[in-house]
Amino acid sequence: MMRLRADLHIHTCLSPCADDLMTPKTVVKTALDRGLGLIAITDHNSTQNVEATVAAAEALPLSVLLGIEITTQEEVHLLGLFDNCQSALAIQEIVYKHLTPGINDEKLFGYQYVVDQDDYVIEENKRLLTGATNLAVDRVASSVQALGGLCIAAHIQRERFGLLYQLGFIPEKLAIDAVEITSDVSLLQVAKRFGCSIDFPVVYDSDAHYPDDIGKMTTTFEVEATTISELKMALKGISGRRIITGDSADA
Ligand SMILES: [Zn+2]
Ligand SMILES: [Zn+2]
Repeated sequence: MMRLRADLHIHTCLSPCADDLMTPKTVVKTALDRGLGLIAITDHNSTQNVEATVAAAEALPLSVLLGIEITTQEEVHLLGLFDNCQSALAIQEIVYKHLTPGINDEKLFGYQYVVDQDDYVIEENKRLLTGATNLAVDRVASSVQALGGLCIAAHIQRERFGLLYQLGFIPEKLAIDAVEITSDVSLLQVAKRFGCSIDFPVVYDSDAHYPDDIGKMTTTFEVEATTISELKMALKGISGRRIITGDSADA
């Protein structure tokens, strides 16, 4: 079994709100410097920099998941994580089809650079990636699952774009694999604050927008491989796979 420190929520220079220095090479180098073994690239409503980052990590001891942070019609952020390019492309198509049309104002929101594995700019994405899709929370979750992905409710402790703040509860039977916390609070504290019970595994991630954020919050996975099915087993704590977080260390 491998033991990997993971940060599954990292933006690149494709996200308008992320630092332009968040290029594939910088993200990969910083992740390695901080002892991470697994990361996920999760730009807002786009997967266009995921393959470049996977390529930048090739032959290095770092696994990169192909991810996306989707804005639902309720203005909730959900992460979709995949281990293959076809699924990442497929979710991209669904999201672009349902994304509110609009042009990014780079002076106002920031640049959206699509880059290659050597950090060269291929193009500027002009879509309004900060906008919402017209896909409801359950539709996004089921689309991610149908494509073999892992679905995580992002930064649930936060007010802006957090599932609990936006909806006030976690819908029964919502097809998410985990909830995510991106600050130094426990799941119990979050549940108390929102007055609800949270019966999902919790992962801790950084939601990095700047190189210095990478690896600030992490979750340790014990798995045989960095496939989505292995990560799902770890989240469920079955077949000897498991996750280790600050929460479970306290328990
Ligand atoms: Zn978010
Ligand atoms: Zn994010």
